[in-house]
Order: sequence, then structure tokens, then C-alpha cells
Amino acid sequence: MSTKSPQTLQWQALSGDHHLAPFSDYRQLKEKGPRIITEAQGVHLWDSEGHKILDGMAGLWCVAVGYGREELVQAAAAQMRELPYYNLFFQTAHPPALELAQAVVQVAPDGMSHVFFTGSGSEGNDTVLRLVRHYWALQGKPGKKTIIGRVNGYHGSTVAGASLGGMSGMHEQGDLPIPGIAHIPQPYWFGEGGDMSPDEFGLWAANQLEEKILELGEDQVAAFIAEPIQGAGGVIIPPDSYWPRIKEILAKYDILFVADEVICGFGRTGEWFGSDYYQLKPDLMTIAKGLTSGYVPMGGVIVRDRIAKVISEGGDFNHGFTYSGHPVAAAVGLANLRLLHEEKIIERVRSETAPYLQKRLRELEDHPLVGEVRGLGMLGAIELVKDKATRERYEGRGVGMVCRQFCFDNGLIMRAVGDTMIIAPPLVMTEADVDELVSKARLCLDLTLNAING
Ligand SMILES: *Cc1c(COP(=O)(O)O)cnc(C)c1O
Repeated sequence: MSTKSPQTLQWQALSGDHHLAPFSDYRQLKEKGPRIITEAQGVHLWDSEGHKILDGMAGLWCVAVGYGREELVQAAAAQMRELPYYNLFFQTAHPPALELAQAVVQVAPDGMSHVFFTGSGSEGNDTVLRLVRHYWALQGKPGKKTIIGRVNGYHGSTVAGASLGGMSGMHEQGDLPIPGIAHIPQPYWFGEGGDMSPDEFGLWAANQLEEKILELGEDQVAAFIAEPIQGAGGVIIPPDSYWPRIKEILAKYDILFVADEVICGFGRTGEWFGSDYYQLKPDLMTIAKGLTSGYVPMGGVIVRDRIAKVISEGGDFNHGFTYSGHPVAAAVGLANLRLLHEEKIIERVRSETAPYLQKRLRELEDHPLVGEVRGLGMLGAIELVKDKATRERYEGRGVGMVCRQFCFDNGLIMRAVGDTMIIAPPLVMTEADVDELVSKARLCLDLTLNAING
């Protein structure tokens, strides 16, 4: 017999009867019904059964400043009263979008002083695809069309986003990728490094970029797109050798570098952007998520000056969204950036919270189920294995999903990517919150180990 409240059951019935959920196993969802999240404050969520849950994923990597920030609520309300909507098409603009553009480029790397706003990260990457091809056409090189992405990269769920990404499950549905997109292997040493050392493997993975450029021909390649740290792919932190070699290759060929900063941007690594952390010097950066801390949807693309110059001298750019630079989203973005500055949230991540989180997380490496703990800034991954030494997995046992369920049931949200448990908590976590996260994670690892051995 179900012990759920009538209200929860009612909502769950609505889910089955009327809602097609994003990224969900529909058969499982129908069986169990979704967990209904009703409230949140700080770094905690509450579900419709009154359970308090520590949000180890900051929503979907986005709620940087935590839940319940009245400053963002007030900014949205004030903007809705003054100008709830207007567009930026056809020679019009409004103050929030312009002021947010200025605030974003103030924190962006040197020489990147223009922003194109979108409604999401996926739309940002659609914009990237059209913008880089348009750029090369304006440069008299219309043949430079192909964009190189990476296997298991994630760049969103629109047709261009999913095509640029390298998620096989996404490519299988809807006949993707679209033409003009190629993929190279990912720098995932723990999963794919075999007998190579991490640095050997990092060099190998980076060299795949040069091989792909040579295979396609430099005159056919428009850009390379990559997340500084792969998020949805499993918090994959490249070996130290990877980015320096990629930068050497990019310097050798005339192709653009797009850093997808949707997760790494706005402080997650302890720097404003992942590109700052790794000194990537990209030509374009896709942003979203932390831009508004997820309170309202917004994304964009930050563009290097020499590219913005070519585009802006090129006449019409026939691209834009009804909600590009939406005034309410822009006002919330401004308020969010103000909080990041005034409360020195990123400095605190760098000097206090991230070092503490990383130290405490690594204590889990002694657990019999754990093959590796890695992390950087406010990102972490825990690899679940059968054999620590050989990195052998519990094949086909769904250990990650088992662990994820224990987490849910014990008041912690951790996400499972296969048998990799990942976290990306709000940047505003305290040391006590980190302690809660790590002790709940250990409990759930114990429960998982018991369950698979029992
Ligand atoms: C989430 C994400 C996107 C897509 O953003 P949406 O707002 O969901 O469209 C793109 N790139 C990366 C790296 C992401 O993590």
C-alpha cells in the first residue's frame, strides 16, 4: 500500500496523464511517478512528502547563488512592472539587456567584449553554429563549415546542440548529427585510458584533434567546440597534458575555438570562466545556467572582438529569438552578477569552499566501491567500481542508479552518469553543508555496496 499523501498521488497522476517529461525513462516514470519538488531554500529542497534534500546538483548545475535569494525575486518583480517584455529585433533595445551585456563582458576574458543573448544554452550553441559559418563566409571562406566536437560532449538538446554534442543516445533519436559536424574522442582517462598514464592519454586525445583537422582539411573546418570540463558526460576533468596540447594545435590551424561555458562559467571552477582556469583564450564562449542562477531561463554567446567586428560589418545577421535578452531574465542576470561580486562568492569558492569540498570528497577514496574521486572547484565525480586496481566495473548492474536512489531516499541529490556519481552543488555552500554532503554520500555508498553484495 502506498504511504504517499493524496496530494502527491494527484500530482503524480497528472504527470502520467498529461506531461511528457524531458530526459526521462517513461516506463520507469509511469511505474514510480516523479518525485515532486515543492520548495527550496539555500542549498536544500523539499519534496511534496515533506522530505528535506541537500541539492548536490544546484538544480541542473545552475543555482549558483542558492535558492530563495530575495534580491533576484525583487529584480524580476521590478522589471516586470516597468517593462515585462520587449524585443531586441529591428533596431530596438532596452536597458536591462544592454546593461547585462556590459556586466558580462566586464568579467569575460580580455578581448571578448560582445554578447549575443539567447533563451538557453542550446540556443547559444545553435547561435554558435550559425555565427561561425557566417563569419567564415564573410571572410570569403564559405567552405569552412565543419565543426568538430567530442564524443560524450554535451552542448544541449536542440538539433544543433545535440549534433555538436557527442551523446550516442541522443544521436540515435531524430537522425543526428546533422551534416557538417565531426567528433573526436574525449579525454576521459579513468574510463578509456587503458594502460596509458593520464598524461600520455591526454596527449593522445588532444592529438585526435589534429588528425581530424588533417583528415577533413583545414579549409573545411570552421571551429572546435568543447566544454572546459565535461559536465553531463560525467564531470570529466582532462589530464594536465590535454589543454596545452589542444591550444598548440589550435594555434597551428586557422579555426575558431568555442568554449562551452554553460556549466563552468560564472564561478564553478573558482574563476569566472573555465577558460580562465585553463587559460584557453577561446574565440567564442557559450553561457547559460549560472548566468541567472537558473531563476529564469537565459543563455548567450560571448564573442571575441575580431569576430564581432567581421559580423557587425557584415550587414544583416538573420538570427534571433523572441526571448533574446528578455528584460526580466536580463534584470535577474544583473542582480545575480551583483551578488557574485558583492558577496565575493567566486573568491570564497576559490580560497575556501572548493578546497574544503575537494579535500572532504577525496576521503571517499578509501571506500571499497570507489575507484576514483576527482573534482575541481565546485564539481566532483565518484567512480563506482568492482576492482579499484583494474578499474573494472560492475557490468550491467546499474550500480549508479542504485546509488542515486539511495541518495534520493536519504536526502541527497547526486546524479548518476552510468556508474559515475557526480555533484555540482550551489557555490554558496558552507563547510557544514559540505560535511552533510560527504557524510550522506558515504552512507549511500555503504548502502549501495550492501545492496549489490546482498
Ligand atoms: C546544460 C548545457 C547546455 C544546454 O543548455 P540548455 O539551457 O539546457 O539548453 C549546453 N552546454 C552545456 C555544457 C550544458 O551543460
